[in-house]
Amino acid sequence: MVRPESLPETGTVQNYVGGNWQTPSGTDGQDVINPATSEKLAHVAFSSADDVDGAVRTATEAFEEWSGRPVEERIQPLFELKQLLEAHQDELAEVLVQEHGKTRAEAKGELRRGIENVEVACGIPTMMQSGTLLNAAPEIDESAVRKPLGVFAAVTPFNFPAMIPLWFLPYAVATGNSFILKPSEQDPLVAQRIFELIDQAGFPDGVLQLVNGGVDTVNALLEHGGIEGISFVGSTPVAREIYETSAANGKRVQAQGGAKNHIIVTETADLDHAARKTVGSAFACAGERCLANDVAVVEESVYDEFVDKVVSEAEAQVVGYGLEEETDIGALITPEHERRVREYIETAVDEGAELLLDGRDVSVEGYEDGNFLGPTLFGGVDPDMTIAQEEVFGPVLGLLSVADLDEAIEVLNRSDFGNAASLFTGRGADARAFRHRTDIGNLGINAGTAAPMAFFHFGGRKDSFFGDLHAQGEDMIHFYTDKTVYIERWPNA
Ligand code: NAD
Repeated sequence: MVRPESLPETGTVQNYVGGNWQTPSGTDGQDVINPATSEKLAHVAFSSADDVDGAVRTATEAFEEWSGRPVEERIQPLFELKQLLEAHQDELAEVLVQEHGKTRAEAKGELRRGIENVEVACGIPTMMQSGTLLNAAPEIDESAVRKPLGVFAAVTPFNFPAMIPLWFLPYAVATGNSFILKPSEQDPLVAQRIFELIDQAGFPDGVLQLVNGGVDTVNALLEHGGIEGISFVGSTPVAREIYETSAANGKRVQAQGGAKNHIIVTETADLDHAARKTVGSAFACAGERCLANDVAVVEESVYDEFVDKVVSEAEAQVVGYGLEEETDIGALITPEHERRVREYIETAVDEGAELLLDGRDVSVEGYEDGNFLGPTLFGGVDPDMTIAQEEVFGPVLGLLSVADLDEAIEVLNRSDFGNAASLFTGRGADARAFRHRTDIGNLGINAGTAAPMAFFHFGGRKDSFFGDLHAQGEDMIHFYTDKTVYIERWPNA
């Protein structure tokens, strides 16, 4: 097993505070398990409120010096971090596959997306500038400047344990703040390995901290008066709670929640392309993606033809251990989560959906203890069925037939979520209607998964997002700074 060098013999995941590795002092905790083999990889001891307090104090001290450094100096460790992440991506991907279960190619793709955020944050000297206006009033010039605010924290989910921390971390420190990451307790090892690289990149001690833990650790962050703002990514009920508690505690907050995403396929679409992309979107990362489009809404004139194409694409998917090259669909994160997804499949059968491909009997030779599920397809799905409404987060795709684009858009707009959707069409007017009439944050046209590049914000509406400023890109500069206006008069006399 590839493991972080700072992981001690005891296997207890370490915090990184003030440039030192520390064992969290909490007594609660949980094991980190390889989802494909059931092998124990490490143990997470949850950080206590005292641990959190220590990290916040250290970060606050570091902020004093760091925020005053010339911006050009602040971005040098980020350039170094980018190089280190590039140089170590194979081994980072391996750590990630072992603790998460996704495939090596997916892990590398995730790292690439994370590295892109480091690259964008290196442009902070330009991105952080604000406006100046000469002669704003008689003899008065006015300018606005962006100032860093202090200590920020991010609480991140299990499904992209390398990328999602990097949606926040590079921008927080490039703008002059200090930052604390609380990664998912389910797969925290890749974050520890990234922090080993951060340790080599040349950031002053205390600017970047890693604090491991569970719910109580998060609550200690939310309640700490020394933290200016919280970024959260995870499930909707927790996102809503984090948003409300953070706001009640006077903090800035951006909270990204769960999703239920749709693909629309019209009769003018390239059906082969649409089928390939639909299968890729629904089943990549075993469906454990907030951008997975797991309901395909298809115009009835091409429904049967499209279903046949999707079935044959899905049947070709290979389920297996993520470290094996031929694997398309890796393991689900835990046996409990696998059980939950199986329950969704049973519910869909009970509610009358047509089971076109059943992934429940899958068995992976050599990995009989893994949390595997094969690609599962339902046809004849009704918009009121549970699998059409709730986030399944597994390799399950539902197909439903609609009369036309108007009805398809209605189905999308009935959803409580507004994270992403894709449209496959050959008509510009369809694309325009889709853009104008949906209330969804990331829209793909003839693209299977609507994942924005790092220099664009990552959208999200309705129950998929609580807040106003999103992750990535320019929104991050706004989140991590506040503006002061200078009004200057220098009379001649
Ligand atoms: P989760 O909500 O269970 O956990 C996310 C984080 O919150 C973890 O760090 C966890 O320790 C902490 N947490 C869990 N319960 C908490 C509580 N009651 N109080 C305080 N903190 C708590 O989510 P998950 O299972 O790790 O991740 C999957 C979810 O994340 C899915 O719903 C998925 O759609 C969502 N997600 C959303 C986006 C997005 O951009 N909108 C991106 C990735 C994942």
